[in-house]
Amino acid sequence: MKILFTASECVPFVKTGGLADVVGALAPVLSKQGHDVRVILPMYTAIDQKYQAEMEFLLHFDVQLGWRRQYCGVQVLKKDGVTYYFLDNKYYFGRPYIYGLGGDEYERYGFFCRAALNALPLLDFQPDIIHAHDWQSGMVPALHKIQYKHLPFYANMRTMYTIHNLQYQGIFGVKEVQDVLGLGDDLFTADKLECYGCANFMKAGLVYSDVITTVSPSYAEEITTAYYGERMDGLIRARRDSLYGVLNGIDVDEYNPETDPLIFKNYTADTIEAKVENKMQLQRDLGLEVGADIPLIAMVGRLSNQKGLDLVDCVLGDIMSENVQLVVLGMGEARYTNLFSWAEQQYQGKMAARFAMDHQLAHRLYASADFFLMPSLFEPCGLSQLISLRYGTIPIVRETGGLRDTVLSYNKFNNEGNGFTFLNYNAHDMLNVIRRALGYYRDQKDIITMLRKRGMAGDYSWTHSAADYVSIYEKMLG
Ligand code: ADP
Repeated sequence: MKILFTASECVPFVKTGGLADVVGALAPVLSKQGHDVRVILPMYTAIDQKYQAEMEFLLHFDVQLGWRRQYCGVQVLKKDGVTYYFLDNKYYFGRPYIYGLGGDEYERYGFFCRAALNALPLLDFQPDIIHAHDWQSGMVPALHKIQYKHLPFYANMRTMYTIHNLQYQGIFGVKEVQDVLGLGDDLFTADKLECYGCANFMKAGLVYSDVITTVSPSYAEEITTAYYGERMDGLIRARRDSLYGVLNGIDVDEYNPETDPLIFKNYTADTIEAKVENKMQLQRDLGLEVGADIPLIAMVGRLSNQKGLDLVDCVLGDIMSENVQLVVLGMGEARYTNLFSWAEQQYQGKMAARFAMDHQLAHRLYASADFFLMPSLFEPCGLSQLISLRYGTIPIVRETGGLRDTVLSYNKFNNEGNGFTFLNYNAHDMLNVIRRALGYYRDQKDIITMLRKRGMAGDYSWTHSAADYVSIYEKMLG
């Protein structure tokens, strides 16, 4: 099969969250299975110089965006069997940020979607499947169906649209989007592109793609309800027959405690005692009290309300009154950076917070921590809990979305489980389960070791999920 991914981020080139991990890991796995996989990405200035130096200029063309005529260069780089194309326009992507600040996101990603489709004949690549990811690519399936599908070159292409996070929809003024993409008033009705008086890129993907997927079976179920549906639940219910939940995997080579060059001391399930050396070095580096027996809880992720940080805020004093250390790594909303900066001062030697995108520290935290806390309000899949399991770090999570599909609470009666979970979005439920986990750490280390080893033995690779995607692609092609 010939498969094209369109996405706004992809490891190792550019990453702000799990979307980058998924695109960057799934593409090479599909390629290894013999498919011709190509990925179209924006050529951000933020892409590491090392990769920019490896790229080759391929061609350029002009993109008509309403009254604008914009340059689009195409740079190419081949890696692990996958061809990556980078769409280059300095005005849109030569900025010191990836998302957000300029107020013209509809134009940047409108350009991206239009240019990605226009590039295909020039690249002489006629994919069977166009697999578009998240709102930034939402206009790809829409434009394809509305403006390209009648052209012989595009006629046989099928589109898949994957929701990585329904909260971010790309909502803009109708006039602005019309101005950029040249879409008529007839398309801005409630059954097409209009959404509560606005234009919505995510909705465009949901309405016009042949198949919709999201990144875990539970989230696929949840987003059909008003609670999780982010005002798209009616539409998603209407498209239920075309909706699939495929659980994400992780790159098990990058995240491998046996070989990870970023951590202090490598270990396996058989040498799990060595894990504590990572913790003690991390404690030293972060200015925490150094002690092999002090349980360390880590949190790594975007500092947004999605991640359940309000629960942590609510009972932070209670958590810190335990014999425990807490380390937070993340970037995001000021209310949370303020909270954790304050906490670092308040609980010196017990709490550390770092507000940066720091891959090395992230790896070291996964390797060093005893527990990984992820009390999300909602979680499409979540990769951090999978990475934690792989490093023998026991997850403490709320039962929602992909967390529910991957972490099973330890049951002392039948000895099942690989972590600790709670159901209600309630701070004291979370506190109780943290105390339960700390109780095992204090009194029953054998259970903790068993859970660690069980976590490390799990299969978090892309093998199963890639096979699921392939079978859906095959179904789409009839
Ligand atoms: P989301 O996609 O909602 O942000 P996921 O759990 O699916 O959350 O994926 C987050 C990914 O980004 C994980 O690989 C996590 O380790 C990484 N990550 C998040 N914040 C940071 C950070 N500040 N520094 C390093 N890695 C981070």
